[in-house]
Amino acid sequence: INVYNKMSISLNLINEEEEKISTKDFICLALLGRGSFGEVYLVQKINNKKKYAMKVLRKERIMGQNLSRYALAERNILSLSNHPFIVKLNYAFQSMTKLFLILEYCPGGDLAKHLSMEKKFEEKRAKFYLCEILLALEDLHKRNIIFRDLKPDNVVLDNEGHCKLTDFGLSKEGINNDQYTKSFCGSIAYLAPEVLKKQGHGKAVDWYLLGVLLYEMLTGETPYYDNNKNTLFYNIEHGNLTFPDYVSNNAKNLLTGLLQKDPKKRLGGGSRDAEEIKEHIFFEDVDWNKDYENKIV
Ligand code: ADP
Ligand code: MG
Repeated sequence: INVYNKMSISLNLINEEEEKISTKDFICLALLGRGSFGEVYLVQKINNKKKYAMKVLRKERIMGQNLSRYALAERNILSLSNHPFIVKLNYAFQSMTKLFLILEYCPGGDLAKHLSMEKKFEEKRAKFYLCEILLALEDLHKRNIIFRDLKPDNVVLDNEGHCKLTDFGLSKEGINNDQYTKSFCGSIAYLAPEVLKKQGHGKAVDWYLLGVLLYEMLTGETPYYDNNKNTLFYNIEHGNLTFPDYVSNNAKNLLTGLLQKDPKKRLGGGSRDAEEIKEHIFFEDVDWNKDYENKIV
């Protein structure tokens, strides 16, 4: 009860003007996704008919673990407000047992769905997504937030086909390494070497994961992929990166930089963060300002 009270105070902060909102204000239309802490539903707000994605988190599944980390995640949510490539949080409220996050609805589905349907993307399309995700990560890093959970199912597409990062804060803060090791090889691949070594990690972890995502978008497989988990773990830490022949030289070069095992030597791993990556030759045809303005690459 004590713990729940604490949580109640912190959520009200997110949601000062909207404190009267509850599940009664929404009609549930469909299930959009299922994750480790609850479900995401497509809902419609009764008074304005607008559609939202409602993420439901069971308190008993996210508490238990580490309250200070929870507080950190919450601060992240608070500060994640206004970026074209980050899903917006419209309302947050709770019941005794659940937390509800009312997010901007992205009807295009997540990148994992598109990758499973299409296997891989043309370089042009992969670059388009990569640029938008990079800008979102840059914005988070400027606010000292490390996303840490970049993978295809945490990138959703809006009605114009633009990327938005989703799944920020709450859920991933609660995930412990135990759960990682029990998960499929597909998601193990989205663990940076420094995370596997439990060395502690900084912003560069996001640039590694950006590399994994680009690799998967271009080839349809994650780097070092192996059906055996232990082999995969070993190769993330020690293996040599290889590429199919059709990957362009510029993409290979970028991937080599991003997938550098030592975070200090990694592209973007220095103090210039995203700036260093944006200057890479792979992006020479990209107008970063135009891209940011949510137009075209
Ligand atoms: P979890 O923490 O359980 O992984 P996510 O926030 O990643 O939860 O959401 C699970 C799935 O729900 C996503 O992979 C995506 O398919 C879908 N989803 C999440 N947010 C949205 C959104 N704003 N619009 C549309 N679909 C979403
Ligand atoms: Mg997720």
